Amino acid sequence: MTVVHWFRRDLRLHDNLALLTALQQSRGQVIPLFILDDALLMAPTSAPARVAFLLESLGALDQALQSRGSRLVVQRGSSIPTLRALVQAAGATAVYWNRDYTPLARARDAQALTMLQELGVAAFDFPDTMILGPDTVRTKKDQIYTVFTPFRRTWRSLVDANQHTILAEYELPRIAAIPDTIAAKPPPGLAELKITNTQRIPAGGEQAGQAQLTAFTQSGPGGISSYAAGRDLMAEAGTSHLSAYLRLGCVAPQACLRAALAAPSAQTAQASVETWVSELAWRDFYYQIMANFPYVLRGAFKSQYDAIVWENDQQQFAAWCAGQTGYPIVDAAMRQLASEAWMHNRARMIVASFLTKDLLIDWRWGERYFMQMLVDGDLAANNGGWQWAAGTGTDAQPYFRIFNPTSQGQKFDPQGAYVRRYLPELAGVSDRYIHTPWTMPQAEQQRVGVIIGQHYPAPIVDHAVQRQRALAIYRAARTGPDTVKK
Ligand code: FAD
Repeated sequence: MTVVHWFRRDLRLHDNLALLTALQQSRGQVIPLFILDDALLMAPTSAPARVAFLLESLGALDQALQSRGSRLVVQRGSSIPTLRALVQAAGATAVYWNRDYTPLARARDAQALTMLQELGVAAFDFPDTMILGPDTVRTKKDQIYTVFTPFRRTWRSLVDANQHTILAEYELPRIAAIPDTIAAKPPPGLAELKITNTQRIPAGGEQAGQAQLTAFTQSGPGGISSYAAGRDLMAEAGTSHLSAYLRLGCVAPQACLRAALAAPSAQTAQASVETWVSELAWRDFYYQIMANFPYVLRGAFKSQYDAIVWENDQQQFAAWCAGQTGYPIVDAAMRQLASEAWMHNRARMIVASFLTKDLLIDWRWGERYFMQMLVDGDLAANNGGWQWAAGTGTDAQPYFRIFNPTSQGQKFDPQGAYVRRYLPELAGVSDRYIHTPWTMPQAEQQRVGVIIGQHYPAPIVDHAVQRQRALAIYRAARTGPDTVKK
């Protein structure tokens, strides 16, 4: 009996429930399949950095399978006909996969189910993309949570109650060689796909992700035990940098949780571990929001904010994308994104607030740009982050709380090290002016060799003025009822 494991966003051999079950039920006769679907590769929200990371991760998965006597079968084409052809060529009796919750993925999987049913082939799907599936964490009234803090409380108690299953570790069963009749070419390179990536990306694959997780969860500077203190300091490597691995499933969220809970247990460290575990809860939270309220991918979670009349100035948007707004913390963050395909979480909040509340540009413009640039670009987390910053989303963040880019910089990059790293033109500016270079007297500008308007732009907007304007346009939109659509 031959079965297919259809890899999608679970590019790992360990902690992979669908793969494990496929191997157990077929006694190892599994064809590991990945379909490179142009509908996704060439989508407007596709990002060269993510494709590059995907191809590297596929290469790593193929290597890992080869070291166990198998191979990864990578096929390019439309998902359903490609799956159908492979199932028929292999005479497979069943297909296994882990669920994906984006609307596109759900539509595709529904089609796959129908097609397999027609062929008389069994299909089994598993909830392994999240720690707790999108319908699992519910209020006392059996409803989906729409506010994070109570969600996290229930999520955490369910994690505790189900530790033995969530955190269980399994020995990977033997996997058989794939039949000779199935062609298995190595995954293509970027050039073959005619895609160019200019951003720096981390090494892809399960082994690299595991190494990152191990390094982060061992005690030591920058690790999980100092996460609570260090996670907001933008110049420091105080966060796990696991997001790209989690997005593609090179590392399982369950494995992250297991490693976190096994990390050092001094009391201060324990609080820090819990702070990090909460980030995994945020990930589940936004997935369950997307799965249950998919309209958030098109408009505001709180529908009254769909009425906001954005200014959408193209030139200001271009300045924001290019990191040329004249606000150093915003510009440094946008240049980090451009060069590294990643941005610090605090910086994401600052630039998102700046785009929506200072430039009065529709959050969906920023959401799309992030998707085009981020190696960890994830529909659910990105949408949740943008709606949070714009104040249109699920959380209690009120619309009138507006980040001041200067004080955010002074607080979370006190010596300006982050700014200087990404804005070399400001390297000579003193600490006193690093977050407000436009306030340097002429003589100081001459002295440090940074003339505002020549070497670095003057602020393209005045924060104090824009703040008042933002409050006005939000207030105007708040005339409608605060509804949550289903
Ligand atoms: P850590 O702080 O080490 O957190 C560990 C993991 O928890 C992350 O890898 C991620 O999987 C998850 N996580 C942490 N914070 C959040 C959060 N707020 N929401 C959901 N999951 C979270 N995260 C993405 O993975 N993809 C995105 O496209 C994305 N877009 C964002 C856009 C905006 C405007 C904002 C404010 C946040 C966004 N985030 C996104 C969340 C967060 O910024 C990143 O997950 C984090 O910076 C990744 O770095 P890390 O792995 O070192 O995180």
